[in-house]
Amino acid sequence: MNTPQHINSEELLSVLFYSPNATAVYQGENIKILTANQAMLNLWGKDRSVTGKNFIDAIPELRDQPFLDILKKVWSTGKTYYAKDTSAMLEVDGIVKEFFFDFEYKAILNEDGTTRYILHTAFEVSDRMKAWRLVEEKSLKEQELIEDLLALNEEYQATNEELMSTNEELMTSEENLNSVLELVNEKEHLFRVMVEQSPVAMASLKGSELIVDVANEHVLKIWGKNISVVGLPLQEALPEIKDQGFLEILKNVYETDTPFHGKELRAVILVDGIPTERFLNFIYQPTNPDQNGEKYILIVAIDVTEQVNARKSVSDVNTRFQIALDAGKLGSTEVHLASGTMQSTDQFKKNYGFLPEEDFKYSDLFEAMFPEYRDRVKNLVQEAIRTNGTYTAEYPVKWRDGSTHWIQAHGRPRYDENGNADRMVGMTLDITEKKLFDQQKDDFLSVASHELRTPITILKASLQYLDRIKDRPFGEPHRKMISQSLTGIDRMTEMVDGLLNVRRLTEGQLQIRKNWFNMYDMLSVTCNHIRVEGKYSLILEGEKDIRVFADEHRIDQVVINFVNNAVKYASDSDKIYLSVSTEGNCVKVSVKDFGEGISEEILPKIFDRYYRASHSGNEYSGLGLGLYICSEIIKQHGGEIGADSNIGEGSTFWFTIPIMQK
Ligand code: ADP
Repeated sequence: MNTPQHINSEELLSVLFYSPNATAVYQGENIKILTANQAMLNLWGKDRSVTGKNFIDAIPELRDQPFLDILKKVWSTGKTYYAKDTSAMLEVDGIVKEFFFDFEYKAILNEDGTTRYILHTAFEVSDRMKAWRLVEEKSLKEQELIEDLLALNEEYQATNEELMSTNEELMTSEENLNSVLELVNEKEHLFRVMVEQSPVAMASLKGSELIVDVANEHVLKIWGKNISVVGLPLQEALPEIKDQGFLEILKNVYETDTPFHGKELRAVILVDGIPTERFLNFIYQPTNPDQNGEKYILIVAIDVTEQVNARKSVSDVNTRFQIALDAGKLGSTEVHLASGTMQSTDQFKKNYGFLPEEDFKYSDLFEAMFPEYRDRVKNLVQEAIRTNGTYTAEYPVKWRDGSTHWIQAHGRPRYDENGNADRMVGMTLDITEKKLFDQQKDDFLSVASHELRTPITILKASLQYLDRIKDRPFGEPHRKMISQSLTGIDRMTEMVDGLLNVRRLTEGQLQIRKNWFNMYDMLSVTCNHIRVEGKYSLILEGEKDIRVFADEHRIDQVVINFVNNAVKYASDSDKIYLSVSTEGNCVKVSVKDFGEGISEEILPKIFDRYYRASHSGNEYSGLGLGLYICSEIIKQHGGEIGADSNIGEGSTFWFTIPIMQK
């Protein structure tokens, strides 16, 4: 049986706040800061005193910036707002500086669509922006260089023409040409130096084959390769990117002469033979043909894997939080102590038997709680407020339909700006199933001890009597006492065996020893103890020649259990029918009695461990283990077990097992 997982609500509540990602929660039209984690406080350059304040009072330097208006809009419309690379002027350590952020104002809604909280998550991306600016500057410079080169090229062409036309000026022209070529070489050299020295990843690819012409150390690091790739076509240098779309993009850039800007594109690259995921921002910039008519593509790239992952992990935390709540069937709520109003999740209301659309107040909660628990829980709440601690309580509640459910609750106070506890946040879990199981176990222990006492009493009485008559000549009373003792011991042995079997079953140690046997033959000799007694007649019907491959002894044990139960619980019926038939590729064995039958409510439970129906009077005995053990044996054989019954007409217990199972 599955007992619900106990999740420490305190941990759950803290998940967001221990997160390294800046997080804050706001509420109300004035965007009151309910809470902000350390990472957010660091971004703002503020301390914990900002909680409880309105956003603009807490961070006045944002007054003339658009954030408050955006937040107000999110609050009034319930629409989440997300933005990237946004600049904000913030005062940190007394200095106003420009920072860049990717951020989200996520509206968390009530059921009626109004906003309940705004969850603000932010990442500082100032470094990324700085890098971008550098890239932009560099590519501007590079553009200038390219233009210079072009001009030089023209000059060279012109000089060349001149050279062709005027033979007599040969010497001078050659000098000219040499100086031009020198300049070109120098520029080329400059260009290479620039690429190589660039603080960002840069490379250039030559011609339609995309031969790696220059690649600086940053680009090699992103590629996970070394300098040996220079001179190779890109598809040989980075064979792993073949089906990732980059080669096609490059080809297109080359053919159409249009630059391409990639944003957070995913590449899987082999680094030391290990596929590694990278997210990249990059530019593919085609150049004009050089003096040899060769075109290049210049690559400038930034590895943004960390930012992308960081952003993913914040939304992961949020979804994980929600999943944890849902999976644990955890309800959560916030109580406004003065008014007694509550903002609760659907699951929270459900734990108290309320529908999602119904209003559920703090007074309803105490109304539902069993009266004898109310004062105790109220005291725990007071104690938590006094000590700023967490309270945990378990109590039964009565739903309006009359049913009883057990709740495990955790709660923690929240304080207003003056330090007065004005709210309680709480989580609840329905632990009814676990409580029932505990109850069943307790019941079982008292039944087991009671059941064991009876044969012990008989045994003790018989031995005491034997002791008293030990000096008398051996006769009928002695014989009777000895047989009574043996019966008592047999019953105890049977019970202890049952308990041992259950232990073995729960530890998965039930051993099945299979052999071929004829089912009809086995049934015709089963339950000899009952046949001998003569009070009940066992009538066997059905197919005589079904052979199965199974554990004969264990299958016999199942039949004996069915027959013993028929005798115990259907003592008026003097006939018990055993039948055997084929059903598909299975054999089906049934035991039918004409006793009192089993009611519809308890029929599904009788195969459960420890289940025994309450029978009036003491005439029945048993630990409620028999049918549980039977069902485990049949399960191990890959078969099915069940019972059909009508009150007043008797019951049929049956099982099936595959015939051809080896
Ligand atoms: P035990 O007999 O030790 O109580 P079992 O697991 O064998 O445990 O049976 C579980 C319960 O199923 C019994 O307590 C009884 O209420 C019910 N039951 C089993 N067999 C019959 C039957 N033939 N007729 C009526 N009730 C039955």
